[in-house]
Amino acid sequence: MKPSILLAAALAAAALAVPALSVRAAKPVVCAQCVKANMQRLAGDELRGRGCGTEDEHVAARFVAETLKRYGVAPGAGVDSYLQAVQLSTPTAAATPALRFSAGAAQVDLAQGRDMVALEPPPALEAPFVRLTDAHVAPEAVAGKIVVYDSSIYDAPGVQGLLRAGAAAVLTPASDVIEAHWTELAGRPPGRTQIAGVERRAPRRTGVTIFAKPEALAALRGLPEGQARLDAPQGPPRERTTYAVTGVLHGWAPDADRHAVLLSAHYDHLGVRDGVIFHGANDDASGTAAVLEFARILGSGAKHRRTVYFSLFGCEEEGGLAAQAFLAHPPMEIGDLAANLEFEMIGVDDPKHPGFLMLTGWERSNLGPTLAAHGARIGPDPYPEQNFFSRSDNYQLALRGVVAQTISAWPIPPTYHAASDDLAHVDLNLMDQVIGSLVAPVAWLLDSDFQPAWTPGQKP
Ligand SMILES: [Zn+2]
Repeated sequence: MKPSILLAAALAAAALAVPALSVRAAKPVVCAQCVKANMQRLAGDELRGRGCGTEDEHVAARFVAETLKRYGVAPGAGVDSYLQAVQLSTPTAAATPALRFSAGAAQVDLAQGRDMVALEPPPALEAPFVRLTDAHVAPEAVAGKIVVYDSSIYDAPGVQGLLRAGAAAVLTPASDVIEAHWTELAGRPPGRTQIAGVERRAPRRTGVTIFAKPEALAALRGLPEGQARLDAPQGPPRERTTYAVTGVLHGWAPDADRHAVLLSAHYDHLGVRDGVIFHGANDDASGTAAVLEFARILGSGAKHRRTVYFSLFGCEEEGGLAAQAFLAHPPMEIGDLAANLEFEMIGVDDPKHPGFLMLTGWERSNLGPTLAAHGARIGPDPYPEQNFFSRSDNYQLALRGVVAQTISAWPIPPTYHAASDDLAHVDLNLMDQVIGSLVAPVAWLLDSDFQPAWTPGQKP
């Protein structure tokens, strides 16, 4: 496939601007053996997919810290620490959530995982139930009730309308996304993880959304309207620890720390599920290995003008938990960061822009085009409708004013969150090339007084 028109234009601009800095002309600085060894360690069987808050993830965090140290990078989380410990408390289910519909002597019983997926169910909920095939009803008809919305397919606006009208719960046909991740979603905790020391905005408590299999909806069609009861008893919360790992290379300029650059990625993945290791080689051992390779290269040469931080976050897969703690208690002044480049999934080539990386929110700042003009193999995001810019850890920094963007190869490869995301399905050659193309531009950024800035009107 051809690159997109925008990408082609960016490439043409880059080629015109600095032909002397083309990738072919640059001498190879990437240590392919180092990238490979780090990938094998992170995505090998021994670390069992680095599940959030597991001992495997802790071993990965210590490995990342030891590697930064070996590369001559100083501790960045505290005076002599690379690790910032983050305490997590997650609600647990004491029993499988169950939903019973009764009308007179007749009953229909639904169980979480088998017949339905209730998202974040409350411990208990009892209400009259009504059945609808059309969501356009007066609010009084559904307020406080459990609504069986028996539409032919999942109707997102209809469901949202019923919840806004005050329905206590809406049971609806499963959407394609829910079908595709049925087991994973059914096994999710019954509420949000609390992070010690982080004030999280309480979610707007609306009614519960319950996705049902077609057989469950069919069974309910034979039942007169009556009473329904959802039971989702909670056990003691599950306490876990994760880590943000940070290293720093201070620059030589007197104001080096006040114009710093942050390179980041997440080192956790999905762990072991039903006895199968989800290795997460692309997601996001590849991003972690990239940040480590930058640390190795930048830590082995002369000091740069600006300070550069290397941060690797745990528990991204459960909602960017370590990154949230990092932002609540950052080891540097967030306002002192001139830019953040986040590396997410750079190991599987995207047929839309082969051999190239995409930068989310490309048109939002002058950072991507400037790095591309210095030889970086990066271009615009060909999936604007997916809104990737606001779907990674970079976004929270961007909301605080930092020019923070994510670099990916293919953000939605076939191996995404699948057991096949392993070392055999990662292109180490691609990684070496794209990392290599970024070394000189990043080094230039660190030595320049260039100010990354938002495009007028594009600051999130
Ligand atoms: Zn992921």
